[in-house]
Formats: sequence, structure tokens, C-alpha cells
Amino acid sequence: MAAAEKLCAQKNVRFTPLRKRVLELVWSSHKPVGAYALLDQLRNEDLGSAPPTVYRALDFLIENGLIHRIERMNAFVGCSHPGEAHRGFFLICGECGNAEEMEGASVADSIAASASRRGFTARDMTLEVTGTCADCRRA
Ligand SMILES: [Zn+2]
Ligand SMILES: [Zn+2]
Repeated sequence: MAAAEKLCAQKNVRFTPLRKRVLELVWSSHKPVGAYALLDQLRNEDLGSAPPTVYRALDFLIENGLIHRIERMNAFVGCSHPGEAHRGFFLICGECGNAEEMEGASVADSIAASASRRGFTARDMTLEVTGTCADCRRA
């Protein structure tokens, strides 16, 4: 949270109470949190949390690299190293739903290189690898 506040101060963007609260809620779990679960949580809190406002807060947090969207789950997860330029990938467990962020610059580089050989400029990529995590394999 301190890192998030510092980042917003550096970028000179406003870290509103709602943005802060949404970030807290996303961070409160190792599992990706769905937008509906967030809206449910926020409904009872007096932060002016109409759905469009919450979606804007989520967009803000994504744009500023504080959280990531897991497309296949339509859910959000806190970034484990906010503020650093990184192109990680996610290991998503199909049993427990945990999503672990991995460093993957070399993976991203090789995809970008393949893409550029096709004349394609890669702008953004979030790689999602599904499977079974070590804890669930042991269980
Ligand atoms: Zn990240
Ligand atoms: Zn698992």
C-alpha cells in the first residue's frame, strides 16, 4: 500500500479512497477477485461505489501497474512488484484458484520477436498458464 501511494505521488495521480479500498480488497486474497465480488463488498461501504466508478478504479489500478487482470477468470490480482517495468506471466491453479505471478521477460521477448517477424507490433501481453499448483498436487 505504501508502494502504491509512493507510485501515485511520483506519477502525480490521485489515489482516492475508493481506489485505495479497491486495491486493498484485491490484495486481501492470493486468489484473483472477480468484479462482482468487489462490487458486493463495496456496496455496504460509503465510498460512492457505483459499478462504473469501481470499474474506473480498476482500470486506474491496471494502468498504473498495481493490479493485473486475469482474462480467463475475469478477475483481478495484486501485482507483486508494482512500479517496475515487467512482463510476467501467471500460473493459475485450476483446483484452488491461486494465481502466482512469475517473472518472464525472456518469454515475453521471444513472443515479441516472433510477432515482429510477422510484422506485428506487440503492445501488451498477459500470459496465463493453467494447471495444478504444488500444494494441490500434494493434497
Ligand atoms: Zn505484476
Ligand atoms: Zn492449487
